[in-house]
Amino acid sequence: MNVILGAGLAGLSVSWHLRHRDCLILERSDVIGGHARSVVHNGFTLDHGPHVSFTRDDYVRNLFATNTDGDFHEFPISVANFYCGHLVAHPAQVHLWQLPEPLRTSCATDMRQAASRRDAGLSEAPPANYAEWLRQSFGATFADTLPAAYTRKYWTVDPTELSTDWLGPRMHTPSPAEIEAALVPGSLNQGYYITSGRYPCAGGYQRFFERFAEAANIRFGADVASINLLTKTISLKCGETLSYDRLISTLPLPAFVRMAVGAPDAVIDAANALDCTEVLLVDVFAPKIMQSDYKWFYVYDENLLSTRIHCVEGLAQANAPAGMTGIQVEVYSSRHRPATAAPETVAARVAQELIGLGFVSAADLTAGRVDIRWRSCPYANVMFTHKRREALNTLWTWLEAYGLERAPDDLAASTDWQSCGPAAVGEIVMAGRFAQWKYFWTDDCVLRGKQVARAVASNWRESTRP
Ligand SMILES: Cc1cc2nc3c(=O)[nH]c(=O)nc-3n(C[C@H](O)[C@H](O)[C@H](O)COP(=O)(O)OP(=O)(O)OC[C@H]3O[C@@H](n4cnc5c(N)ncnc54)[C@H](O)[C@@H]3O)c2cc1C
Repeated sequence: MNVILGAGLAGLSVSWHLRHRDCLILERSDVIGGHARSVVHNGFTLDHGPHVSFTRDDYVRNLFATNTDGDFHEFPISVANFYCGHLVAHPAQVHLWQLPEPLRTSCATDMRQAASRRDAGLSEAPPANYAEWLRQSFGATFADTLPAAYTRKYWTVDPTELSTDWLGPRMHTPSPAEIEAALVPGSLNQGYYITSGRYPCAGGYQRFFERFAEAANIRFGADVASINLLTKTISLKCGETLSYDRLISTLPLPAFVRMAVGAPDAVIDAANALDCTEVLLVDVFAPKIMQSDYKWFYVYDENLLSTRIHCVEGLAQANAPAGMTGIQVEVYSSRHRPATAAPETVAARVAQELIGLGFVSAADLTAGRVDIRWRSCPYANVMFTHKRREALNTLWTWLEAYGLERAPDDLAASTDWQSCGPAAVGEIVMAGRFAQWKYFWTDDCVLRGKQVARAVASNWRESTRP
């Protein structure tokens, strides 16, 4: 029996790609979907933070299209930034004209110098951290004023605390011509790595993968308490013990290690060295006053708790009743920057911020026409701190003794699905964003599920060969 821990996207994908054969999914909650699930509240449909499918992978695109019977829409993704009362199109480095003076000129001067150094091939030492990368890419003024501030809010640490291995195409470095274009008033320029997105017309993001759960063997309310890797047994909080032949975990890796019976101190230390952010999602339901095509907004101001904001009806009209808006605000914390107030206090402060930013009317708030709720997600984003690779290496090496097969890229921040080839799977398999501790989007979780299932199925074929 393949026992799969977690009915999020990665766990569902493994089971579905195996046609659910010999699969049992243990899920602690009473619903599928994990971080990608959708919830309904008073006629609003909400995801856990803005979820949009922006994958370029044809296999996932076709699968999600088939799963919704084509009932999704595709739209260009335009995003904006709030900065000191200014609305700046994203990415800000190619929309400098929207920054106030004298910041604009100062950013442009530094940015030109950084670009000429690159163009002239003047060698700079490779950046030792994200802060150095930002300065080399954008010059000091822009780097220190915008992305560094956002890093402290979103990643909860100073950019010096982060490595650069996760960047990939995420941050666009402008060429000299793009810097000049960025200064032209009214220009709208390219540079965001997400250009278009897909979203189901109704039912929230979850509709893209609900079909994976049809006919799946899922035990809801099965909260894993401990795992014995020697006896190959799992104990649930209800007291029941189950055996597995192969264990496929999608649980957060630090939690998995803490559940493992007899994990040595060095291994526990490595698990404790893995950092992630936590997000408080503040949901605000109000009469709609913000009219905008932007799909989400980043908030750079460090005096505001709101870090990213989106309106659910901007992703699908059916997500909110007519004339109403479902605003979702993300507020991040971590052990490096613990939350400074109780969730209800944070939520009340966010509601006030939304008045200042133009999403909610003060009169509606005073008249009680605004409903404010909050939800907490203890695992939001894997943090790419300098200790991550070494800690992961310790954990994977330890798990090898219990049947984990290592992959050449298992310390990398992401997986290149075009080049990674088939996987080998043993008795312990890790799948998904928090189990592999990678920068995984939903498409990565689907593809990892497919990769694991192929390897499991080929093991079956091997074992039944005469
Ligand atoms: C704010 C935010 C915005 C995002 N936006 C996007 C986006 O726009 N597009 C995109 O593609 N991706 C997006 N993502 C990423 C996406 O949500 C994740 O990559 C994906 O949902 C991870 O799926 P998973 O199966 O790996 O993990 P999870 O979804 O975490 O699934 C793990 C499952 O394990 C269960 N579990 C945990 N502990 C136990 C236990 N002890 N016993 C039994 N079960 C347990 C959980 O309940 C859960 O169902 C976003 C993520 C966040 C946080």
